[in-house]
Amino acid sequence: MTEPDCIFCRIVAGEIPCHRLYEDDRVLAFLDIGPLSEGHCLIIPNAHYATIDQMPGDLVAACTSLIPRLSKALIAVTNAPGWNVLQNNGAVAGQAVDHVHFHLIPRHGGDGLGYRWPAGKLDTDRATELVAAIQAEL
Ligand code: AMP
Ligand code: ZN
Repeated sequence: MTEPDCIFCRIVAGEIPCHRLYEDDRVLAFLDIGPLSEGHCLIIPNAHYATIDQMPGDLVAACTSLIPRLSKALIAVTNAPGWNVLQNNGAVAGQAVDHVHFHLIPRHGGDGLGYRWPAGKLDTDRATELVAAIQAEL
């Protein structure tokens, strides 16, 4: 599955260059062109899916199973004491490229990166309703 106008499909096809870290028949990892920190990279499925809910689970697993190995390599090279795995779905969630991708972002103390996280408080009654509603959809 390829979308001719998708920049990541074009990277997979070799039509647009990238700094490849890893590739196999289902997965590609490459350096992010606009890194939030040194080593910031992306893991993508070779096939085009806009959002993660559309992907078969085994393809998500193929992408995510690379995370431990790639993380170890990134941490070895950058000496980052921590890192984020980030995966945005939909423009409202910050997704700019509509081809599923997992960010791996090395983090250092005082790097100024962050996420607004205005935590609320889980209401017990609402939680019961939510669990029933979500389980009914599973
Ligand atoms: P998101 O906001 O989650 O959709 O992130 C898209 C990411 O893709 C951004 O971090 C961009 O810097 C990155 N990106 C866009 N075009 C390219 C490209 N040609 N090569 C590498 N990374 C890219
Ligand atoms: Zn694509």
